[in-house]
Amino acid sequence: MADLLKDSYNRVIRDLRVSLTDRCNFRCFYCLPHGEPPIAPKEQMLSYEEIEYVSEIFVSLGIEKIRLTGGEPMMRRDIETIIKKLAALKPRLHDLALTTNGYFLPDRAEGLKDAGLDRVTISLDSLKRDVFKRMTGVDVLDRVMEGIEAAKRAHLTPIKVNAVIVRGHNEEEVADFASFAREHGVWMRFIEFMPLDSGHDWSRDMVVSGREIFNRINARFPLVPLELTRGSETSMRYRFADNAPGEIGIIAPVTEPFCGACSRIRLTADGQIRTCLFSTVEHSLRDVIRSSATRQETIEYIQSVVMKKEPRHYINDPKFMQPARTMSFIGG
Ligand code: SAM
Repeated sequence: MADLLKDSYNRVIRDLRVSLTDRCNFRCFYCLPHGEPPIAPKEQMLSYEEIEYVSEIFVSLGIEKIRLTGGEPMMRRDIETIIKKLAALKPRLHDLALTTNGYFLPDRAEGLKDAGLDRVTISLDSLKRDVFKRMTGVDVLDRVMEGIEAAKRAHLTPIKVNAVIVRGHNEEEVADFASFAREHGVWMRFIEFMPLDSGHDWSRDMVVSGREIFNRINARFPLVPLELTRGSETSMRYRFADNAPGEIGIIAPVTEPFCGACSRIRLTADGQIRTCLFSTVEHSLRDVIRSSATRQETIEYIQSVVMKKEPRHYINDPKFMQPARTMSFIGG
């Protein structure tokens, strides 16, 4: 496999997150509590043909995984078409995944699979109706649960379930989530709350550390680290000591940064490359492909942007500045 995307710290880039839209039908307080600012005009968004064009280039440069995200990517009407086009990049593309809030899955999981999607990650921040509603702004826990079932039936597996753990909201549910993973055979991913919320309410005392999450689970269901070299994995992964189904992953970017092993870059819905979640600058791939740039010039542009990838994030530095765009615009 080509190693044609390398940054100045010798990290090879293999993982591309593509945001399909800035729009979202949820109002998670840690992400987009007050909704989107006026949505950019449609012509600023990448069309599916443009997404297909640049994705093929990325794959030719060694990208092996593409994750479609947003906003809520399923709010984009042409998502099945986009998946079909990207699925045609296999087997050079090894993994085509989607991160979703699950709301649209009950009716559409099968169609996504037929289009060529490999798997889904579904966000689920609480197993309790009132907490779910308080955290996401919408009263649709049952529907998301149906979405998880629909994804299972459609074999969009392994199904990962993301929960952002925030002090005072859902930290008491951590072990219940582990129980959910065991019962449903899903891979739970616990994520530390990061300063990427549009409401700017993040504070350090709201962060529940990966260590605390581990301890809460391990006390009820002993865990065994998975025998993997961590590589560019964002999560520390564990299985249950009693060999129950399901898996646990803990993603701790705040308390245990993993920047040295980062293999990711992001493409926003309006065609900007972001080399880090916390980048304060963006690089307009859209302008390049809409100019008269040749394929080779586009490749050179992407390579030059990757060379500028930040060594690490600065969340823990006193001078840390939250990026202007929040998770829903960056594509989490
Ligand atoms: N709408 C889709 C969803 O709900 O999964 C995809 C986009 S969402 C921005 C992707 C992931 O980012 C979700 O799992 C969400 O919980 C996570 N996320 C959003 N804001 C976050 C924050 N401030 N800290 C940690 N994770 C966050």
